[in-house]
Amino acid sequence: MSKQTLSFQAEVAQLLHLVTHSLYSNQEIFLRELISNASDACDKLRFEGLNNAALFEDAPNLEVRVTFDKAAKTLTITDNGIGMSQQEAIDHLGTIAKSGTKDFMGRLSGDQKADAQLIGQFGVGFYSGFIVADKITVESRRAGLKPEEGVRWISSGTGDFEVETITRAQRGTSIILHLREDAEEYLNAWKLKQVIAKYSDHISLPILMEKEEWKDGELINPNDENGGRQPGGMVKTGEWETINKASALWTRPKKDITDEQYAEFYKTISHDHEAPLTWAHNRVEGNTEYTQLLYIPAKAPFDLWNRDKKAGVKLYVKRVFIMDDAEALLPTYLRFVKGVIDSTDLPLNVSRELLQESRDVRSIREGSTKRVLSMLEDLAKHDKHTTGEGADGVTDVVSEEDKAKEGKYTKFYAEFGAVLKEGLGEDFANRERLAKLLRFASTQSDAVTVSFADYKARMKEGQEAIYYITADTLAAAKNSPQLEVFKKKGIEVLLMTDRVDEWALNYLHEFDGTPLQSVAKGAVDLGKLQDEAEKKAAEEAAEAFKPVLAKLKEALKDKAEDVRVTTRLVDSPACLVVQDDGMSTQLARMLKQAGQQAPETKPVLEVNAEHALVKKLDGSVHFHDLAHILFDQALLAEGGLPEDPAAYVKRVNALLA
Ligand code: ADP
Repeated sequence: MSKQTLSFQAEVAQLLHLVTHSLYSNQEIFLRELISNASDACDKLRFEGLNNAALFEDAPNLEVRVTFDKAAKTLTITDNGIGMSQQEAIDHLGTIAKSGTKDFMGRLSGDQKADAQLIGQFGVGFYSGFIVADKITVESRRAGLKPEEGVRWISSGTGDFEVETITRAQRGTSIILHLREDAEEYLNAWKLKQVIAKYSDHISLPILMEKEEWKDGELINPNDENGGRQPGGMVKTGEWETINKASALWTRPKKDITDEQYAEFYKTISHDHEAPLTWAHNRVEGNTEYTQLLYIPAKAPFDLWNRDKKAGVKLYVKRVFIMDDAEALLPTYLRFVKGVIDSTDLPLNVSRELLQESRDVRSIREGSTKRVLSMLEDLAKHDKHTTGEGADGVTDVVSEEDKAKEGKYTKFYAEFGAVLKEGLGEDFANRERLAKLLRFASTQSDAVTVSFADYKARMKEGQEAIYYITADTLAAAKNSPQLEVFKKKGIEVLLMTDRVDEWALNYLHEFDGTPLQSVAKGAVDLGKLQDEAEKKAAEEAAEAFKPVLAKLKEALKDKAEDVRVTTRLVDSPACLVVQDDGMSTQLARMLKQAGQQAPETKPVLEVNAEHALVKKLDGSVHFHDLAHILFDQALLAEGGLPEDPAAYVKRVNALLA
């Protein structure tokens, strides 16, 4: 074939116009795209070679070589993969076949800046070369064809390209980029290595560069990128070195990977110094194919509480790095998980927007969420510290592997338990599984180890609800007056002290058929736990107390929604509760502290008609002061502050004096 000039398909011409006329914030991705194509070409040869070993010719080792020529201002990426025939070069490099790139074309907005940004982030395969080159020469020979059947393809990225026959001894493809002036920084081994390490380290095939040596290098500044020597003094040595790790850990079979290797890999992707608590590595097959390698860290990062924090899962497509922090891959409440997801189905140029919409991604997200939950369930099952009597109690620890898991769930929970609770409000599909994973302190355990199942297993005869209380601190929860009657009757109450508890519990109304009941909301209803005699006594006391109650309501009408007699108190004179559907005073306080609007609801004051102080009210000359002291003390007891602390102090002092 003699030299011919052919026109690009209209779509290619349009794309090239954009690529060559835009400024990129992220030029360097061209290298990722070209190395990825080279890697694909090697994969294809490997595949075809399965049935036809002759295709390997005399070079069985597949590799990519990156070279540059400072004088000629060219950068060349050479692979010894499948290569292209003349017709293939015309077809593949002159039209857009790839569905991903077509998709991408469909998304172009016409706004040059926005479109350039899109290319800069995600690349457009081979055509990305024109981001840095004003001319590209491709020389190729398909594996199995004669050396005389090679092809040279040349284009400046405008309307057409040239093709001609060449003789090429080596099979495979060289992409020769004639760099534009503004891209000459890529004529530098250090720069190239840096970009390759960033994007292509996990390409499973070796990427080679020729070693260079300093000749007569003069030391100027030891801290600069050239090791302090005058640039220009580098000479090639003729020796080649592999500059990537050349092995995507997650693509190797589990049995070939040691725990140390898993831990090392975790450190490189997470920048965490500590070894992970556990991990799961699986190849998922079915409608969507992907590999997941997911880690649970041992320590929470300092910015865990930032819900906008970047997610820790990296997305790869066919071993090519696509993006960090792909938040579409896991729900926000699992933002502590680190790892890699490598999809076989997604297009290489998948954008964030596309990720959100993709059905494959949804299925990856569901699968990965389930995987994380199973990892946690497995840890929980093997943790003796979580009390064992419950329905989800400890299984027998038999193997060494089981022993290694001992205590890990407690450790995990201390770091990430509170984040996990966000899932109750975020992931309805997994709410039940999540509820089983929760642990709390209780009136029977200071340690945060009680599961709902443990609690249920210990419930009293006739008890119909799981009781809990939320407070700022464990001490405040434990000493809350609202617990008094529960303590007296020996009923366990879960003590919740995480800031998210109140919010999260809004989404969980029952566990395994048993309702959850806050002891600080509504009137206490101990149901069958209260005997008839007690009920009667309470009713009588309330009746006798009615006139005082009316006076109390009047005195406190600005502060309390209602005043009523309660049986929940034993030692304390009074406490505050909120209406059943109301926001707890603790949550309202938290919102206010965070500078947010909280509805101005007034609490209900409940008084203990048996208490000496309350008995004193009747006929007291200090009635008004006593009433306000009762209210303010109830507020203090639950960690709040009187509206007018000075007035409170004055009243107490007056009485003391
Ligand atoms: P994609 O690689 O996603 O299909 P590209 O625009 O990057 O899209 O490349 C178009 C086609 O050109 C490829 O599908 C492949 O057939 C061919 N090609 C590109 N680079 C090479 C290469 N290094 N070796 C062999 N074929 C290649």
